[in-house]
Amino acid sequence: MQTIFDLQNVSHSYLDKFEALKDINITMTAGEQITVLGANGSGKSTLLLILDALIYATSGEVYAFGKPVTEERFNALEDNEFAQYFRTKVGFVFQNPDVQLFSSTVFDEIAFGPLQLGLPNDEVKKRTEEVISMMELSSLRDRAPHTLSGGEKKKVCIASILSINPDVLLLDEPTGGLDPRSQLWLIELLQDLAKAGKTIITATHDLDIVEQISTRAIVFGEDHTIKADSNCDTVMNNLELLMSANLIHKHMHRHGKLMHEHLHSPDGEHHHEQ
Ligand code: ADP
Ligand code: MG
Repeated sequence: MQTIFDLQNVSHSYLDKFEALKDINITMTAGEQITVLGANGSGKSTLLLILDALIYATSGEVYAFGKPVTEERFNALEDNEFAQYFRTKVGFVFQNPDVQLFSSTVFDEIAFGPLQLGLPNDEVKKRTEEVISMMELSSLRDRAPHTLSGGEKKKVCIASILSINPDVLLLDEPTGGLDPRSQLWLIELLQDLAKAGKTIITATHDLDIVEQISTRAIVFGEDHTIKADSNCDTVMNNLELLMSANLIHKHMHRHGKLMHEHLHSPDGEHHHEQ
């Protein structure tokens, strides 16, 4: 299988002083579905930004599709071919839809990516219509994206990436702000995309979705290093690990006269110790 991303001893600091990633080694292969877990501030978003070549490693090496990803390469005018290829292959759904949405209608928003790729107009229209219908966005097609609800905005963001038809999807906390029905819809969409062979990398601290959307989990500690990189089963059953990464915490409960110990994830979900 093709290696999509290869990170070797990657560290990243913002403004040379705010450490965000420390000595990260990861190889990601085509067709994998991976969740990136970690408490707030552990480095999940920074990792995704590096994978999408929006920021660059402060030290260490990043390879995408076998080629080194460097700032020079992405900005150099004479070597835009790789950057363009990369943008057709990798799509990023930001955590905050307001960062992503800028067009005056939902239709234009979804058509933007294919237009940027230089596809002929009828192909752009066809792709946009397909995605609108698949994502059930027909009733919103002429609306201004900034007037939509949070969940609707998120849907449009995802649609605007799917119209590019990338092989690799990077999603930053995609269930954040979604109601239960939209969450379920998103999980099913990700499962369908996985079946279609997409590589999907999702940053989250929502432990409930991990096993539904991925087979591999990478856990970041609050010291910005990788604490585990294994199959979801192994990671989700390692309560000590999840506790040390601040993904769950011990909590004492009183049930009548009984004191009862539970493990809690930050969203309040119970994990009984076995
Ligand atoms: P996560 O997505 O896991 O919550 P981030 O990757 O956003 O974590 O952040 C990792 C660390 O980098 C945090 O300590 C955060 O405060 C810091 N950080 C993130 N973005 C910036 C920035 N633009 N400037 C300075 N520090 C930042
Ligand atoms: Mg984040």
